[in-house]
Amino acid sequence: MPKTIFERIVDRETDADILYEDEYVLAFRDIAPQAPVHILLIPKQHHARHATVPPENHSVFSHLLAAAQKVARQLKLEQSGYRLVINNGPDGGETVPHLHLHLLGGRHLAWPPG
Ligand code: 5GP
Repeated sequence: MPKTIFERIVDRETDADILYEDEYVLAFRDIAPQAPVHILLIPKQHHARHATVPPENHSVFSHLLAAAQKVARQLKLEQSGYRLVINNGPDGGETVPHLHLHLLGGRHLAWPPG
């Protein structure tokens, strides 16, 4: 299988505006931001999407959420608030088949989403 754009970012074959990195997670700015703050958090290990992560790798979910809290703090979003989103599959609006968590903030976000 060819690498996704996000695997290429993890492997430093494509540039990204990286804000946070640890052993498991990389966080970088979305190339087409939908809010003043729009960060993508991805596991370094490849998983296509939320629905395909096997039970033995479920720690990836806590790594992503914990990293998102750190990035939100880094960006001083705790008081104003933010939204975390995972788009899974066609109805979810997923476009890149590498699990990722969107962190959106910096403006009031409507609910329900479109
Ligand atoms: P999805 O629609 O799959 O939930 O989210 C994929 C996100 O990746 C989109 O918000 C899109 O703007 C972003 N994206 C796609 N290609 C690139 C890229 O090359 N670099 C960065 N930083 N973001 C990308």
